[in-house]
Amino acid sequence: MPVELFIGGAWRPASDGARISVADPATEQEIASVASGSVADGLDAVTAAHRAGPGWAATAPRERAEILRRAFDLMTERTDELAALIVLENGKTLADARGEVAYAAEFFRWYSEEAVRSLGTVQTAPSGTNRILVLRQPIGVCVLVTPWNFPAAMATRKIGPALAAGCTVVLKPASETPLTALAIGGILTEAGVPAGVVNVLPSARSGPVVRAMLDDPRVRKVSFTGSTEVGRALLSGAAKTVVSSSMELGGNAPFLVFADADLEAAVDIAMVAKMRNGGEACTAANRFYVERAVADEFTALLTTRMGGLRMGHGLDEEVALGPLVNAESRDKVAALVAQTVAMGATAATGGSIVGGTGHFYPPTVLADVPPGAPVLTQEIFGPVAPVVAFDGETEAVALANDTEYGLVSYVCTGDLAKGLRVAEALDSGMVGLNRGIVSDPAAPFGGTKQSGIGREGGHEGMLEFTESKYIAVEW
Ligand code: NAD
Repeated sequence: MPVELFIGGAWRPASDGARISVADPATEQEIASVASGSVADGLDAVTAAHRAGPGWAATAPRERAEILRRAFDLMTERTDELAALIVLENGKTLADARGEVAYAAEFFRWYSEEAVRSLGTVQTAPSGTNRILVLRQPIGVCVLVTPWNFPAAMATRKIGPALAAGCTVVLKPASETPLTALAIGGILTEAGVPAGVVNVLPSARSGPVVRAMLDDPRVRKVSFTGSTEVGRALLSGAAKTVVSSSMELGGNAPFLVFADADLEAAVDIAMVAKMRNGGEACTAANRFYVERAVADEFTALLTTRMGGLRMGHGLDEEVALGPLVNAESRDKVAALVAQTVAMGATAATGGSIVGGTGHFYPPTVLADVPPGAPVLTQEIFGPVAPVVAFDGETEAVALANDTEYGLVSYVCTGDLAKGLRVAEALDSGMVGLNRGIVSDPAAPFGGTKQSGIGREGGHEGMLEFTESKYIAVEW
């Protein structure tokens, strides 16, 4: 299991010997000690990526495609090994971890297929005097910063398109989950990625290390996935060198259930939208708005399903809910629930921390949630489902859109025309219509408002790592 920095194709400790202790959130025991990169290491990684840049950009797209395809095969072959690593450092269940490995590997397969489709355009200028030729060129050295909640997929969702486009990268994974990112660095090398093209730099000093890299004019792109708060700080830092920025930030997904929906199916969909990754997903349903006529019945069905989930160590195949990633996350969830209950909500199941080892928080359903409760306005990032009744389509859309976030919304209805009408009116980058999962490597993932800038996945995902070059031609 790699535990050192990966720079210029070599594994090495941090320049000042610093380490990060990585712990299993279920046992609170250290599972590894990982090198923690310094500012000097960050700049070395930029140097390695910068040196490797011209060679990689000049590689035939077909060759880049075949390397990415080999990386897909290697990740897929090693699903069990990688899934176990994700469970150990993140805490999610084995089923979720296996699902993540499959999703993560798909980014390598999808972008192996996109690498050979770097299309430009040619058109006649409106004046008729010349031609407008537009090429897509790799943007250059990219700094990729990823969160802990999908340690594999958030890395491959950036590395896949960057490599396909001909860019070189420095990946800074979250300090909670550096092991999966380092393992992916190893897999890419085995797949044939040349030294310096992918560098992996865990660091507990994220602020100064990332800032130093963004201040370096050799860096041309920052692609960040994480909280809106850190995204804002990075955007203001990026202003200094006007570095191109893609941001995948927080969410506060509304989940609308109309009275004409198949309620049993809506609960199945709700369980996927809420409980994938134990609720630690930017796409997690954060607020359930249910049409008044079916609100009690929906709450009762959801309570039964949530209350029946078995909580424990993610490596146990029978377990449906693991711990939260750390004590801070668990305490934040507990505080949100306590504040909401103090405002008059009732916990239909769960609602308080169960003692013992591990950062566990039980599956919780909150009924009678008053307007303005913090659990409705903030990202919960845990296994908590607040339910609020609404009256009619107009109110449902207004409640759903009343947030500074705009990542994803969910709609359950038996009337497809209504579903599409509501989907169009929702101010979010993505909508799950009678479906609890939207993530797909072939689709443009991303948000409106303060949920982000840009898209990952699909053809758009690769364009984020290119610059347009316009050539005015007379021929
Ligand atoms: P975070 O913002 O705390 O950290 C994300 C990454 O940024 C980590 O690598 C962290 O080390 C680094 N970081 C922290 N402070 C930094 C700084 N000052 N400068 C530079 N880098 C810094 O987020 P998190 O807690 O790891 O992840 C949870 C958040 O991520 C949630 O808000 C969630 O919604 C969001 N998220 C969004 C998406 C999406 O696609 N929109 C996907 C997954 C997670």
